[in-house]
Amino acid sequence: MATRTEQLTRAAIRVAGLTRAYGDRVILEGIDLEIPAGQFVALLGRSGSGKSTLLRALAGLDHGVRGTGTITIPDRVSVAFQDSRLLPWKRLSDNVILGAKGSPDAGPRSLTAIAEVGLAGRERAWPHQLSGGEQQRAALARALVNDPELLLADEPFGALDALTRIKMHELLRDLVQRHRPAVLLVTHDVDEAIVLADRVIVLDNGAVGEDITIDLPHPRAYGDHHLAEYRGRLLAALGVVPAEV
Ligand code: ATP
Ligand code: MG
Repeated sequence: MATRTEQLTRAAIRVAGLTRAYGDRVILEGIDLEIPAGQFVALLGRSGSGKSTLLRALAGLDHGVRGTGTITIPDRVSVAFQDSRLLPWKRLSDNVILGAKGSPDAGPRSLTAIAEVGLAGRERAWPHQLSGGEQQRAALARALVNDPELLLADEPFGALDALTRIKMHELLRDLVQRHRPAVLLVTHDVDEAIVLADRVIVLDNGAVGEDITIDLPHPRAYGDHHLAEYRGRLLAALGVVPAEV
């Protein structure tokens, strides 16, 4: 069994006593969170509960907000958002190369990453020539090309139609299995959380409320009745009372 010290050095995220406030409005109030290396965590919470605020704090993208606490994250971190944030004046391959952050083999690595997300042959396409789903695939390629130890994603599939979203879930699981980063995925979608994650946490009143391990083998199907118990518990934590059936 790993000692406490080994476990700590293998943590991908360690957050202690994290607070964040916009003016007088306290959004995060003493968050303590530890995510081990390689763990896939989904973060749920009502709209406005502070999910994006937490993710931005972890990504170091929250300049100007007041706060205290400590955050430890690995060196190689990638971030993905609801819109792909591809640079419109760069071709697909050059957008993905940006994710390789100056690595000497950025060119070949980006080609591999593009193939991994199923976009081989589209390397010279401009972002506007890609569909919404393809743009998110490109964003995943850019996020994974530097082999991150941690992937932070804020509703990366939120703008996609239901069918494309399911395809993207399969792709993300596949990529995560291959690259083994720890993942913190912000989502509104309880089913997305249960189907993808090893663990689901719910942000409530500025703190981590529910923290549930999803103990089901992969791949998980949406209709699987084993998901129902987790779904009910998470919906209750989100303040949604399931309708009687
Ligand atoms: P959603 O699910 O709708 O994306 P969220 O959980 O990601 O919501 P945040 O974006 O983290 O919520 O916002 C948390 C709260 O902080 C909200 O009430 C929001 O209005 C407020 N907030 C966010 N950014 C700012 C800002 N730059 N200035 C002032 N208030 C802000
Ligand atoms: Mg948000």
